[in-house]
Amino acid sequence: MNITAAVVEEQGGPFVLRERELGELRDDEVLVEVAASGICHTDLICRDQWIPVPLPAVLGHEGAGVVTAAGSAVTAVSVGDRVAMSYDSCGACPRCTNGNAAYCDEFFAYNFAGRSFFGQSSFATHSVAHERNVVRLDDSIPLEIAAPFGCGIQTGAGAVLNVLQPAPGDVFAGFGAGAVGLAALLAARVTGCETIVAVDLRASRLELARELGATHVVDASREDPVEAIRELGGADRTLEATGSPQAVRAAVDSLAPVGVCGIVGAPALGTEVSLDVNHVMTAGRVIRGIVEGEAVPQEFLPRLVDLWRRGQFPVDRFMTQYDFDDIDRAAHDAESGAVVKPVLRMH
Ligand SMILES: [Zn+2]
Ligand SMILES: [Zn+2]
Repeated sequence: MNITAAVVEEQGGPFVLRERELGELRDDEVLVEVAASGICHTDLICRDQWIPVPLPAVLGHEGAGVVTAAGSAVTAVSVGDRVAMSYDSCGACPRCTNGNAAYCDEFFAYNFAGRSFFGQSSFATHSVAHERNVVRLDDSIPLEIAAPFGCGIQTGAGAVLNVLQPAPGDVFAGFGAGAVGLAALLAARVTGCETIVAVDLRASRLELARELGATHVVDASREDPVEAIRELGGADRTLEATGSPQAVRAAVDSLAPVGVCGIVGAPALGTEVSLDVNHVMTAGRVIRGIVEGEAVPQEFLPRLVDLWRRGQFPVDRFMTQYDFDDIDRAAHDAESGAVVKPVLRMH
């Protein structure tokens, strides 16, 4: 069948809407009529070839839609189901079989070098996904709100709920108040953190963070976040969501004893950071990389949808919708910081 897809043809080039022909479904694949897709930072760094995804490419990895066909071996979803799409994985390596598919041995091959991007290529009217990377949704959540749950929202919320697991009363500090950082902030509030610090360079983001529940905000362009957080007694948990080496250093330096710093922001490949070894060693501090919130999407996304339904996870407050053919404007607005999380509507 013929579909319309936003194609990136050259490094840093525009998204160009083109007609494309979809091949036959394999036994373990599903065809999804895409209703909406979030735009994630990873899409833009792949367009710019920080990660060398072969071009031309159809990017997009926060798609949601309705299943319109399913291969003969698919049992998890059926035609007519509303689904969100998430990262893909092999299902056979030791990580996948231990419930840790975010660290699949074949993660790069499945998400960046496969037949489709993250098993979906959701900047299109239709996606071919795999049974392993689709999650059935109930009727309670609109697809244009659920779409970014498959990557950005899951990444921030999962880092807090699945990995950092702060205790009630803890001090949490999030570096970066974009979609990932704000989802993490909301999750920290769910866990009962008493002090929630948002660090960013933009006043408008910090304002939004405060509206969503940050008890303290630090504008790192004017104030040293390490000093500000140490004045609060240090952070029990920090999350680095900017990809900046300086922010990694600050997120580690502002930890209280036995505190844990999670890293979810991705800088360019090969980026290094220096640390004060004794600061880490003598107080049992931990630095922890986290991919996709270490979530098993089929279990975790319904949990987030439930929190959203109960009003505890209002991530739609920082989403902005665009028509599909405005994809370049949406990408530009994300990069300029004019919007936090652009979501494309395909129809
Ligand atoms: Zn695997
Ligand atoms: Zn992403």
